[in-house]
Amino acid sequence: MKYHIDTIPVWDAVKEMCGCPMCRLKCKIEENDVVRYLGGSVMEPSTRIQVNAKGFCPRHQMLLYAQKNRLGHALMMHSHLQETRKEVKSIFERAEKGKTAGGGLFSRSRGEMKDAVASAAKSLKAMASSCILCDSIRENLDRYAYTLIHLYQTDSAFKRAFIDNGGVCLSCAGDLLALAAEEMKGEVLSEFLRDLDATLSARMEQEDHDLKNFTLIFDYRNAGKALDGTKGALERTVNTLRGACLEEPK
Ligand SMILES: [Zn+2]
Ligand SMILES: [Zn+2]
Repeated sequence: MKYHIDTIPVWDAVKEMCGCPMCRLKCKIEENDVVRYLGGSVMEPSTRIQVNAKGFCPRHQMLLYAQKNRLGHALMMHSHLQETRKEVKSIFERAEKGKTAGGGLFSRSRGEMKDAVASAAKSLKAMASSCILCDSIRENLDRYAYTLIHLYQTDSAFKRAFIDNGGVCLSCAGDLLALAAEEMKGEVLSEFLRDLDATLSARMEQEDHDLKNFTLIFDYRNAGKALDGTKGALERTVNTLRGACLEEPK
């Protein structure tokens, strides 16, 4: 897949030198999107249609709610509710159609009935888990991942900065490697693999040390002792293992 290359945000995220640059980009996109979606008047009609159809996941509902724009949030939810009602009606109608065809539910074979109910369950679960914000973040992040891989291959200063600043978290390493498998080949691909391995291993080794020290400060025998790396050790470790989700102390 080809994307428009936008190098500045990726360079800026790598230069910040703490945590995972891809997670930082994700947080920025998310913050901007939450504000943008609540400014409903500036939303394009195509986006509005998607909001109505997809709605928002629990995490993004919480972030929207925290903006305290109850009217904006309620207007979006009202349109989404109306779309959802139509879709739910048709899902149940499809599942029950043995009945409407005049034969009653039990006129269908047991297998057909099970399939129809399982398919309705799947459709309802899909509706309850769709999120326009998650989709938008994923799309932007894919573009940034593509840009990062492009910069790694074409800009030696970027490559150096990316390695020196600790690479990425476990989750983003998986995303980048999946893309690298498609976009890179030969020696560059093996080099990228080695660099991600080295940076992620070094990151986790450091966190192993810091988190151990952090647990030791709860031992009364260490009272008054200054153990290094303890500040933010728990938050850093969680963020490396699962992608940025806890705020790290400054
Ligand atoms: Zn990350
Ligand atoms: Zn979401």
